[in-house]
Amino acid sequence: MSLHPKPRELNEMKTVDPVELSSRVIDQEVASEPTNRVTNELSEIADGVALVESFSHMVVFDTDEGLVSFDASGAQSGKAVTEALRGWRTKRVHSLVYTHGHLDHVGGSGAIIADAENRGYKPPTVFGHENIPRRLDRYQDTNDWNLLINRRQFGGVSPKHRLGLITDKTDKPLFVPKSTVWPDVVYADQMKLRVGELEMELHHGKGETDDHTWAWIPSHKALITGDFVIWVFPNAGNPQKVQRYPLEWAATLRKMMSYDAELLLPAHGLPIVGNVRINRVLKDMADALEFLVQETLELMNQGVPLNEIIHQVKIDEEKLSLPWLLPAYDEPEFVIRNIWRMYGGWWDADPASLKPSATSALAHEVVSLVGGLEVLLKRAESVAAEGDFRLASHLIEFAANAAPKDATVHGVRSAIYKERRRNEKSLMSKGVFAAAMRESEAIVEQVDDE
Ligand SMILES: [Zn+2]
Repeated sequence: MSLHPKPRELNEMKTVDPVELSSRVIDQEVASEPTNRVTNELSEIADGVALVESFSHMVVFDTDEGLVSFDASGAQSGKAVTEALRGWRTKRVHSLVYTHGHLDHVGGSGAIIADAENRGYKPPTVFGHENIPRRLDRYQDTNDWNLLINRRQFGGVSPKHRLGLITDKTDKPLFVPKSTVWPDVVYADQMKLRVGELEMELHHGKGETDDHTWAWIPSHKALITGDFVIWVFPNAGNPQKVQRYPLEWAATLRKMMSYDAELLLPAHGLPIVGNVRINRVLKDMADALEFLVQETLELMNQGVPLNEIIHQVKIDEEKLSLPWLLPAYDEPEFVIRNIWRMYGGWWDADPASLKPSATSALAHEVVSLVGGLEVLLKRAESVAAEGDFRLASHLIEFAANAAPKDATVHGVRSAIYKERRRNEKSLMSKGVFAAAMRESEAIVEQVDDE
C-alpha cells in the first residue's frame, strides 16, 4: 500500500523470495527493492503456508479439511490471486477470514465464490469482526463519497500501479462490488477457530480500523497481522477517512510482541521470519505511534492549538527512513490530526475558524487588500519557486476562491500543485495535490474551449 511498486521498479525486482528480501532489508535497514509488490504471485513461506503478494495479500494455510484463507484481496486482483492459489493447491477453500472490511481485503471474495462454484465446492464460511457488516453498510450509505475520496487518494499515482478499487460496471458505480460476501460468522473480542488440525486464535484490535482481526497460529508460531503491519508508516492519519486509533494500534503491536512469533504474515509488504526481526519492526512501529500520541496530548494539555502542534511534533528523520516506517502512504502529520480529533473536537482552537466567513468572502477581501489578483498570483509563484508550498497553497487558494473561473489563476494554481505533488513523499498528499492540479487544468481547458 505504498507508491511501490512503480513499473520501472518491478523490472528492478531481483529477489523473488519475499523472505530472503525481507530478512535482508530488516538486517541492513535499507530497501534496495520495493517491499510492497503487487505481483499476484504465490510463495510457499513454510510447510503448508502460502502468501500471494497483491493489493492486498492473501495468506493461506493448508489443512486436512481444506484451505483457510486470510483475506480475499481486492475486486480487481481477486481473480488473479485465486488463480495463483490454484497453482499451489486445488482443495476447497474451507474458511475465509477477513482481517478487516477494507475493499482491498474483501473485494476479491466474489472471485473465491466463483472459483468454488466452478469446482463444485461448497463456498467457504466467512469470518470477521462484528464491525465489518457495519462498515459495509456505512459504505453503502456513503457510496459516492467513498468513490470520490478513493479516486482522489489514489489519483496521484499512475493507473499502472493497479491500486484502483472501483469495479462494478453497472449504471451506478458501486464502491462495494455486488459480489462482495458479508461475513457469515462475526465475533467481538476473540474467537478460537479450528479447521482440520489447524488451530487459530482470532483477536480483535483497533488500529487502522475498528473492525480489525489479527491472528495467532500456535503450530507455526505465526502472526497474521492484517494492516497492523503494512511496511510503510502506519495508516493512522488518513485525511479523508474515518477515525483511526494510533494508541490502540500500538497496544496491539505490543501484544503481538509478547507472543515471541517466528513468522509474521502481513496484508501488505513482506513476510518476516525470526523473532528478533519481527519484534524489531513491531517495536519501531509501536514506538512511533506512541511518541506521536504522547507528544500531541502533552501539547493539547498545555492548550496549544492544532496548527502549532503539527509544526512542532516531529519524528526523527532517521527513524522515518527505515523501510518499514517510510511515510510513503500516510504520514505522521496526519496522524497528529487524527489524535487531535480523537481526544479533542473538530475545532482547531483558532477563534477565526470556529465560525468562519464564507471562503469566497475572505478570498475577495484578501485580494482587494493586496491590491488585486495579479499581486497575489505573482507572490504565490515566487513563494512556490522558493519551495514554500505550504504558504504558496494558501495564497493561490485565495486567488482561486476569489476568481473561481479565471483561466490565468487556474494556470498558476495547476502549476503550483503539479510541483507540490512532485515534492511530496506520501501517496495521500500526492493524491490530494494531483486532484487540485487536475481540477485547475479542467477549468483552464474549459475556458479555452469557450
Ligand atoms: Zn489494506
